[in-house]
Amino acid sequence: MKDIPNPHPLKSPEEVTRFQDSLLAWYDQYQRDLPWRSHPSLYKTVISEFMLQQTRVSTVLPYFENWLTKFPDFHKLAQATEEGVMKTWEGLGYYSRARNLHKLAKIATTWKTPPATLKDWKELPGVGPYIAAAVTSISLDKPNAVCDGNLVRVLTRIFSIEKEYKDGATAQKKLQPLAQSLIDADRPGDYNQAMMELGATVCHRQSPLCLTCPVINFCESGWAGDAESFPRIQKKKNRKKSIQRYWVECKSELLLFTDLHSKNKLSGIYELPQEVPTGFKHDAEAVENMGIRKRTIGNVDYEEEILRISDFTSEVEEFEEGYLWADKEKMKEITLSGPHRKWIEEILEEGG
Ligand code: SF4
Repeated sequence: MKDIPNPHPLKSPEEVTRFQDSLLAWYDQYQRDLPWRSHPSLYKTVISEFMLQQTRVSTVLPYFENWLTKFPDFHKLAQATEEGVMKTWEGLGYYSRARNLHKLAKIATTWKTPPATLKDWKELPGVGPYIAAAVTSISLDKPNAVCDGNLVRVLTRIFSIEKEYKDGATAQKKLQPLAQSLIDADRPGDYNQAMMELGATVCHRQSPLCLTCPVINFCESGWAGDAESFPRIQKKKNRKKSIQRYWVECKSELLLFTDLHSKNKLSGIYELPQEVPTGFKHDAEAVENMGIRKRTIGNVDYEEEILRISDFTSEVEEFEEGYLWADKEKMKEITLSGPHRKWIEEILEEGG
């Protein structure tokens, strides 16, 4: 690996074996008790890896338990309605993961045996290099190394890699061969989970616990005391975007909208509408500013100004597809995006 300073302890195969042994001995003793690790199965691994993408373990735990109760296997998930799947996923964000899991479950019910190669897994809906490596190593014992943000942090610190990467995804791609060169082929699933566990519980972004780290003897930046200066990834500024949302009530109902036909990841997830429906008439003076709420999606920081329309008429009996009058008392039954559920609940609590 041309990025690795020479000499480094892990240049020799014997030292790589010692590194793997130290890591796995630590993992065997200290791994967290996580529900997808007890009585593991391919299904549990797939669900947990989909849920854990860009999401913390503590957030995933209640969702995972609930999901397994509702959809205990690929067959039950395949038979579920899309609405039921989205409702169960509600609040976890990145909703395309739920849609892809649903599609994957339908495909899985046709398998005689599950696919065994990275290439075959990467052709399945929502499965990228990380999930393919995680699933094939954990459930099928294939020596495929994962390389996500945790691994980037651990590897760049162990090897004091000075190179600055354009973004996290580029770093993961460039460091994949290095990750692969260290994998323990006898216990690939445990090795991958151990590296992830190390990144999550010891090699923290800030204040890594180097003094108690099981692989300190192999870690250049741990010894040098400059671990926090790695990884080196160019900082990007988020874009800012301002939009308006309408708060429209009629008797005990609140107007919501979802764009069922767009490729938007929030298709099927209800929010306060950004536009009033066709045929909807209101007086500009009957609009009251209810304040600005903020959220971030990907690399865009949104400012959403909520405007209450208190006086309106409609020229049509029914609004076009996507609009829904939702009973304010039964808001829990509607699949809402996380931020909009929070804002709506707050506004209703304050008395609407
Ligand atoms: S010694 Fe420190 S920097 Fe190196 S892997 Fe361990 S926790 Fe991370």
